[in-house]
Amino acid sequence: MQKIWGTFLLLSILLASCKDQNANDATASADITVKEEKAPATEERFGFNLADFKVVRDTIRRGDSFGELMMANKVDYPKIFKISTEYKDTIDVRRIRVGRPYLILKSKDSLDAAQVFIYQNDVINYTVVDFRDSVRAYKGKRKVKFVPREASGIITSSLSETIMEQGIDYNVSNNLADIYAWTIDFFHLQRGDKFKVIYKEKYINDTIYAGATPIEAAYFEHNGEPIYAFAYESDSLKNVIDYYDEKANNLRRTFLRAPVKFSRISSKYNLKRRIAYYGYKVRPHKGTDFAAAIGTPIMATADGIVTESTRRGGNGKYVKIRHNGTYSTQYLHMKAQKVKKGDFVRQGDVIGWIGMTGNTGGPHVCYRFWKNGRQVDPLREKLPAAEPLPEPLRPAYYEFINPKKMQLDCIEYDQFPTEDMITMK
Ligand SMILES: [Zn+2]
Repeated sequence: MQKIWGTFLLLSILLASCKDQNANDATASADITVKEEKAPATEERFGFNLADFKVVRDTIRRGDSFGELMMANKVDYPKIFKISTEYKDTIDVRRIRVGRPYLILKSKDSLDAAQVFIYQNDVINYTVVDFRDSVRAYKGKRKVKFVPREASGIITSSLSETIMEQGIDYNVSNNLADIYAWTIDFFHLQRGDKFKVIYKEKYINDTIYAGATPIEAAYFEHNGEPIYAFAYESDSLKNVIDYYDEKANNLRRTFLRAPVKFSRISSKYNLKRRIAYYGYKVRPHKGTDFAAAIGTPIMATADGIVTESTRRGGNGKYVKIRHNGTYSTQYLHMKAQKVKKGDFVRQGDVIGWIGMTGNTGGPHVCYRFWKNGRQVDPLREKLPAAEPLPEPLRPAYYEFINPKKMQLDCIEYDQFPTEDMITMK
């Protein structure tokens, strides 16, 4: 009985702290509402009060040229010439892109001449060409508001589907898969695996959605095993952000799981493989084949030095990289190599492109993983982890992640577990 009380007490403490957090969230969103109400009556955009002008909004169409567009809006040719020559670095007039929105601000008088041209490079960046007085051009950035977001889910099908169902940005699921790429096999997620994420959404003028920031903190429970991930800049000089768990272990491994992004495994490492071509005799396959379109970049799975970059027999064009005294990797059937013998490569560097050179039935890279001079199955190897956060940096790290961890722990799952999930426990 006492034990139950203990649990109950602990639970209520937890609930109380989560409630406090929710209360904080509520005040935060209240602040945002107040700000919106105070929005000025004038329409201030791109640093101009649009109410002072006659405003034309349009998008660049096929065949549009900056010069003709401006001439049609009664801008004198010398002014156009000045912009296209003296402000080339600010606006390359030959590079305005079809489909990009623009604004032309005209004087309200009867002249109907363009005074300002505002080209929107993307949702955040824009370029202003001001034809008034001395002609000039400059770049600007729209004010971006970051809105904190939390999301969670229980996986019923695939991660991306579960995330999509909840209307979360596609990039968030991509990002989540990248963070856990070394620790979780996303091809074998279990029904009932759970995740929580904290990130921010970007908005322009409070209304235009401009994408999500990288994930700040995440929690993934795979097969009942929880893994936390916190984005942390361990080296501010190099501007490197890594994801660490609650004990400051790096979630990265020294090797990537695959040398190609968005590929499928077409043939696994298999010492007992039988092939029709050879009369169903055993032809061991000591590599892992990743199929992808010709020309797809092939990445080095770890840092190392290129020991071979050549063409030989059935291997076709290939690259071999020595990572340390224990491990080497080899990449076969390339269309072309991008590195040569002696080059130093970093994990993720492109070393060549998918092709069909040598003995191969279709475009793929045959990835061979050498351990102490023997070829082994990389999918079964327990690969070494990347360096944890250095000891002296840890106190600051723990202080940094503490509130984020608490926030994660307080997120409730959007979908309640079904009964068979509960009995599974
Ligand atoms: Zn192969």
